Amino acid sequence: MSSGTDDTMGVKLKELFQALSLMAPKMGRHLNGWSRCPHCSVASPSLELLWKSGGLVPRGTPGAIHQWATYRCTTCGGVVVAKGKGGDQSETPEVVDSFPKVRTVHEDIPDRARTYLQQAVETLHAPDAAAVMSGSAVDAMLKAIGFEKGSVYKRIDEAVAAQKLTASMGEWAHQVRLGSNRPRHADEDHPHVSQEEATQSVEFAEALAYFLFVLTKRIERGTEAAKSASSEKVESGEPEG
Ligand SMILES: [Zn+2]
Repeated sequence: MSSGTDDTMGVKLKELFQALSLMAPKMGRHLNGWSRCPHCSVASPSLELLWKSGGLVPRGTPGAIHQWATYRCTTCGGVVVAKGKGGDQSETPEVVDSFPKVRTVHEDIPDRARTYLQQAVETLHAPDAAAVMSGSAVDAMLKAIGFEKGSVYKRIDEAVAAQKLTASMGEWAHQVRLGSNRPRHADEDHPHVSQEEATQSVEFAEALAYFLFVLTKRIERGTEAAKSASSEKVESGEPEG
């Protein structure tokens, strides 16, 4: 083989390795491979380098040290902090962690509410859509806990009266309902919701879902675990404490 062919092979291999290494996100001028922005949820966000530690950041305790960098989402301006692989001193270390995390909706939330909530989270960059989906998520959650008949307005109040929601949660649920009604009914004076209002609606719907379903399921699992642990003790003849 002539040295010319070797060179061509070398270039091809180098290209292949570069293509493969692109699959693991690197701390470059752009942070690639993110499915969604953790702030505005836009898909395939463009994350631009703002600042880089330019070396491993020292620590006062034993353990791995890392390079750190911050990136800006070009859609919403939200900043993401990226952490490089421990001990990796290269120009563009592999990114092993990032903050904040991309929002995901918990699997303990009933299907219909979870679908609406997922859509609310994913449309945060389009506030009207996010507000409407938050309203639908709250509506679906009320139905899932047995408040199925009549208007959303009436069902929120019924849930408060039945002590399924606290009074302040009920007020907040009404805010979400009002926010979702404006774009839905093309309100004459205020047809659109702001980014802040949409974010608040999504956060409330997430908090409500956590309170009604995730926390309840966690408590049930904890209670069952405690029960089975104490019955094992009884069976093994240990006194109950
Ligand atoms: Zn963003």
